Amino acid sequence: MNITVVAGARPNFIKIAPIIHAIKKSKSCGNDIDYRLIHTGQHYDEKMSETFFSELNIPSPDANLGAGGGTQAEQTAAIMIAFERDLIEHPTDLVLVVGDVTSTLACAIVAKKLNTKVAHIEAGIRSFDMSMPEEINRLVTDSITDYFFTTSKFANNNLLKSGVPENRVMFVGNVMIDTLLANQSKFKKPSLYTECNLKKGNYIILTLHRPANVDEAENLKKMIDAISTNVKGLPVVFPVHPRTARVLAEHKISASNLKLVDPLGYLEFNFLVKNAKAVITDSGGITEETTVMGIPCLTLRDNTERPETVEIGTNELIGTNPEKLKPALDRIMSDKWKKGKVPELWDGKTAERIVNHLLALSIPSRK
Ligand code: UDP
Repeated sequence: MNITVVAGARPNFIKIAPIIHAIKKSKSCGNDIDYRLIHTGQHYDEKMSETFFSELNIPSPDANLGAGGGTQAEQTAAIMIAFERDLIEHPTDLVLVVGDVTSTLACAIVAKKLNTKVAHIEAGIRSFDMSMPEEINRLVTDSITDYFFTTSKFANNNLLKSGVPENRVMFVGNVMIDTLLANQSKFKKPSLYTECNLKKGNYIILTLHRPANVDEAENLKKMIDAISTNVKGLPVVFPVHPRTARVLAEHKISASNLKLVDPLGYLEFNFLVKNAKAVITDSGGITEETTVMGIPCLTLRDNTERPETVEIGTNELIGTNPEKLKPALDRIMSDKWKKGKVPELWDGKTAERIVNHLLALSIPSRK
């Protein structure tokens, strides 16, 4: 079986790493499985892309479509045009897409229109918030997916409720956690840890990149003020996503205990998370990682497509109103946060389960 694996943005690279490793391992055991890796070029910044390939041992992509930049529509169109050419030149038995970024949506559509089967990893998650571009990506991708690999029972239920037949839904666990567990012994102390005199439990990590939080400078400033004034002077380390960096620079947003840094590599970022007092974020993937590491996580959103991180894990939805931050931060500072547990099948073996499912599918070969 030949599989075309698609990745385009930072969280995608973290998700495909264990899948590529599991495919290679299965092939080396004599199984009929191989892959071609496509980087769409959606994230092209070295710190948002290349770093993850070297740190997570992901082989160089077989093709880079170079389709980064532009508006949502420009980017979707550029990825579709380039991926269609590639897929016509290199027919495959299955296109495997991960997550919920523009590349996920664009490549799933192209594959399906070329009569190629589509597998979606992290299928079925829903925020039910149509103002998020990711929610549109999830809905469209899942409406044309053939094989659904899910991270939780919540995702299974969403798919079954939308009419997906049960035999096409495979509850396998979480590939992002495969990467976390496989790399935790390699987490790396960044130089800023010593430079800023950080110690276990004496600092906060902040990440923000959702348009709803960062595109409106006034609200972003209010949130940052509320965070920096309610953490009893603790340093707040903020690895800044390129989207957020533009707004922070343009409006000169800062605070004395706020330490702005470039996006960090995976091993350094997760070293900081593992040793932090708490994480404040609007990321989806980070709420899963903090749940597994047992670190308190405050999500600055009104909803989540990952309810298991709230119901089972250490995550809590604080919303985007800066006034809600103080009471939540008071609970963090007085160590009154819930403990949480690890969701079912988030055990580091998800990619292996996915490959076993793929081998059992009876997809006619195109070669
Ligand atoms: N991450 C990283 N460096 C950073 C910030 C995040 O390596 O400076 C990793 C993080 O550990 C997680 C992923 O990036 O695995 C989350 O990506 P992001 O927040 O961009 O996307 P989302 O999960 O919200 O789709």
